[in-house]
Order: sequence, then structure tokens, then C-alpha cells
Amino acid sequence: MPTDADDESLRYRRVLLKLSGEALLGDKAFGIDHGVLDQYAADVKQAVEAGAQVALVIGGGNIFRGVSPQGSQMSSRAHADYMGMLATMINGMALQDALERAGLQTRLVSAIEMNEIAEPFIRRRAIRHLEKGRVVVFGGGTGHPFFSTDTAAALRAAEIDAEVILKGTRVPGVFTADPETDQDAQRYESIFGGEVIQRDLKVMDLTAVTLAKESGLPLIVFDMNTPGTFTRILRGEPVGTTVHWDADAESVVLA
Ligand code: UDP
Repeated sequence: MPTDADDESLRYRRVLLKLSGEALLGDKAFGIDHGVLDQYAADVKQAVEAGAQVALVIGGGNIFRGVSPQGSQMSSRAHADYMGMLATMINGMALQDALERAGLQTRLVSAIEMNEIAEPFIRRRAIRHLEKGRVVVFGGGTGHPFFSTDTAAALRAAEIDAEVILKGTRVPGVFTADPETDQDAQRYESIFGGEVIQRDLKVMDLTAVTLAKESGLPLIVFDMNTPGTFTRILRGEPVGTTVHWDADAESVVLA
């Protein structure tokens, strides 16, 4: 359990971790890989034990996306998007289960009312859960079609006064080119958010980036599939890529 001494060694204490639905696929073509979930749960547990307050936003891309070949066959984008939001709730329940099996206390909070399985979002209540050491999983995105779970991450982070948004991916940060196809791709250690927009780097969608900017929220993109990386970032180690909004700081630093 957290101690004061642990708290002091953390650079970020209240954080919002965004995990994509696709990450839950692991090596599968569809659905949820429980090995991946268990690793994520162990990583979140390590961070909570180090004294962090952790809220999660989970995507739904492993199950259904509004903007997808399947979704675009539907009569309305909004209808398809609601299906995508429900997909995030399935992932949220799976994540909650993995976190609780790891010994953590959790609350699943839904942006769409479904009282039998999740709490409604009440800002002060969500913050109280975090203060009590509970891990809060936000499902249902923003609750509105035409948005993404990245935008939900920026929105919830701002609402719960998180210090940073952490985006866990399968690559170790933001690169000058796609590191999975281009050997010469270089990782940015840090980059000014304005550059991210100008260079059209696919960090998060523009709505999410704009919201992060307006809230002055830094974003750190990192490799969630390497165990322990999450807590290393919370301790302030220079892992991943930091997207910052400080116009006086160097705008681009390559690793
Ligand atoms: N979605 C939505 N509004 C939101 C968040 C999500 O309509 O606020 C829908 C949208 O159809 C999206 C799907 O839910 O495609 C799954 O979310 P997302 O694609 O962001 O998941 P990820 O890419 O992170 O797995």
C-alpha cells in the first residue's frame, strides 16, 4: 500500500492512463488476450503501490469502431459510434476484473448510464475514489458519438485534475517515421505540442490534442508492453516521448 516515502519519489501522482482496445488483442485477431490484461494489471498495481492515483480510459478498437468498414455500412455514424462505446464497456469490465484479480480496489465508471454494471460519472466521486487508492476505469468514451476514446482521455484527465495523460502503446514513443516499417525512424524524447499538430504526427486525434493543449496537460507516449515502464515514467525517468505545451522549452528533442 502507498506510503508517504513512496509518494516523494513520484514525479506524477495523479495520472490518466489511456489504453487502446487494440492493445488488448495481444496476438489474437479479435477479442481480449488475458495475458495482456494481466500484465497491464500488474503494471497498474506497481504504480498504485508506489503511491500513484491511477485512472484509466480504455478504447474499443479490438471489438468495434464507428469509423471502420463494418461501421460505415450502417445507416448512421452515430449508431455505429454507440456500438463502439459499448465495446469500450466490455473492455472496461475485463480490465476491472484483471485489476481486482491482481488485488486492487476498482470502480468502473460509465459515460452512458448502465447502473447494473458501472457507476455514472460524477466528477467529485471519481476523484474521491482515487484519493482512497481505488483504480478508476472510465468506459463509454465521452458518451457522445463523433468522438474518440483519446478525446475521452483528455476530457477525463482535465476533469479529475490529472497531472499528465499517459498513452500506452506498443511502440516506445513518437517517432519521425513509423518505427515498425522504417529502420531510420528516430524517437522524439520530447516535442512541443504545436509541432505535433504541424507535423501531423499521429499521437492522438486533433480534438484530443486540442483539449490537452487547452488544459495545459502534458502527454507521454510510451511502450505499455514492456513491464515496469509505466512506473518508471511516473518516477520521472526519460522513457517514451513527452508532448509538452511549454513554448519556452526546446521544441524538438530527439532521443
Ligand atoms: N466512441 C465514440 N465516442 C467516444 C469514444 C468512442 O463514439 O467518446 C466510439 C467510436 O465509434 C470509436 C469506438 O467507440 O471508434 C472505439 O473507441 P476508439 O476507436 O477510440 O478505441 P481505440 O482506438 O482506443 O481502441
